[in-house]
Amino acid sequence: MNKDIATPVRTKEILKKYGFSFKKSLGQNFLIDTNILKRIVEHANLTEESGAIEIGPGIGALTEQLAKSSKKVAAFEIDQRLLPILSDTLSPYNNVNIIHGDVLKADVKKVIEDEFAGFSDLMVVANLPYYVTTPIILKLLSEDLPIRGIVCMLQKEVADRIAAKPGTKEYGSLSIAIQYYTEAETVMIVPKTVFMPQPNVDSAVIRLTRRVKPIVEVLDEDFLFTVTRACFAQRRKTILNNLTSQMPDGKSKKEHILAALEAAEVDPSRRGETLSIKEFGRLSDALLPNFK
Ligand code: SAM
Repeated sequence: MNKDIATPVRTKEILKKYGFSFKKSLGQNFLIDTNILKRIVEHANLTEESGAIEIGPGIGALTEQLAKSSKKVAAFEIDQRLLPILSDTLSPYNNVNIIHGDVLKADVKKVIEDEFAGFSDLMVVANLPYYVTTPIILKLLSEDLPIRGIVCMLQKEVADRIAAKPGTKEYGSLSIAIQYYTEAETVMIVPKTVFMPQPNVDSAVIRLTRRVKPIVEVLDEDFLFTVTRACFAQRRKTILNNLTSQMPDGKSKKEHILAALEAAEVDPSRRGETLSIKEFGRLSDALLPNFK
């Protein structure tokens, strides 16, 4: 029986054996609690037929649990120093492939085609590097990958914004960008003590389940996100004020903006945080002809 990687003693042993020093700039906070890892993996609802894609395997703590719970794991790791460590720690598993590189630059669709041909269920599961959580999630969602969803650890504050509902102070353009593609839920709050080294912020695990169809059909997705960002540019301002000050030539197009708000049945004096994604969708389509 193999010793789990994710215990304080084993992790320290591995780090010492390889003289590994953490790089803060790469968001290296490794998990040292096997129970937490098992619970994360449970939230992904993997089966023996599933494929798992991991971002940032570190020394393999989560990778190991994924290897036990799925048919195959492919993991992107940017830090070359971790490659020999991973081939050692994961040597008991023959269903793991480590891909050296920056996930933000990777052709993930191609990797999926190469690594998971014939798989009908794919999940991304990761303890994300905190300096790039949102770019990674947005990349994975916007590239239209054949994945069921993402279960990932990230800063609690970012998890709160991602899963926020209209009318709350956390609700903003990030909530909309992610909930447009997925149903978002926070499934675990995780204490700092289960990481080595401990991060400065609290952490949470979110589950993002891809919607079969986006929550609202729009004419132009990118324009929807441009409009939502504009409406949240200054949270205390009304939508009308934000749109006229943020959209290109917004001031001279005020009449068009007012007409679009009326067509979308959105009161110009409301604030962005009160609008549902469906309302943003209607507004985006009504504004589009004036800005394209
Ligand atoms: N999965 C391990 C665990 O839970 O213990 C390590 C998680 S640690 C928070 C994040 C990992 O992501 C590190 O191994 C780091 O080197 C890697 N990483 C950072 N930026 C990356 C990037 N752009 N692409 C791929 N991996 C990255």
